[in-house]
Amino acid sequence: MFIPQSVNFLDPLMKVSKQVKISIENKEKANKRQRYIFNKYGLDKKVDNFYPFELSGGMARKVLLSTALVSDCKVIIADEPTPGLDEKSLNEALKDFRNIADSGCAILMITHDIEAALKIADKIAVFYAGTTLEIANVNDFKGDGKNLRHPYSKALFNALPQNGFKPIKGSQPMPNELPKGCLFQDRCECISDKCRLIRPNARMVRDGMVRCLNAT
Ligand code: SF4
Repeated sequence: MFIPQSVNFLDPLMKVSKQVKISIENKEKANKRQRYIFNKYGLDKKVDNFYPFELSGGMARKVLLSTALVSDCKVIIADEPTPGLDEKSLNEALKDFRNIADSGCAILMITHDIEAALKIADKIAVFYAGTTLEIANVNDFKGDGKNLRHPYSKALFNALPQNGFKPIKGSQPMPNELPKGCLFQDRCECISDKCRLIRPNARMVRDGMVRCLNAT
């Protein structure tokens, strides 16, 4: 089940309650489940009869999230599911994701909301300039981030408000301007000569994956 960022992925000509129920064959079960989930996200009964164009951005995300939560899918790819949700709905959505994952469904959450990801994830993959630089266990994101393997992951973690709000200098290279060696070289405080010559391959370090020549 794909939870897109845009309301355009809802059928514009179908009432939202019908779209949420579509994956459940048993009509009675579908009605109850759809209403239960909508209640949970504060979508009252009149929303059942709304068409997608009548939804605000936050409501659209709640409807899309409901579409995933009512089904018995094995994999959920949730692309930026949290913007627009109030704190209560956000916490409920994260709790639902965690419960669904614990029941055996794989969840891939694509997000810029690191704090939300840290609340529910088992593993976190850090992307940069189109490449996965690190796959870390969620417990590696602790303290000053010293357990993280890649300088970018550490910098990202330390840029969070609760970790000192330290900015990362520079910006990501454009796809048509990727350097020869490490993608992070111009922003890295741990750079050595070889970093400008060799693009690091993925390797395992301390039960995680990293693309850095100097990671230990
Ligand atoms: S390979 Fe070199 S430049 Fe790239 S992140 Fe590692 S230390 Fe920094």
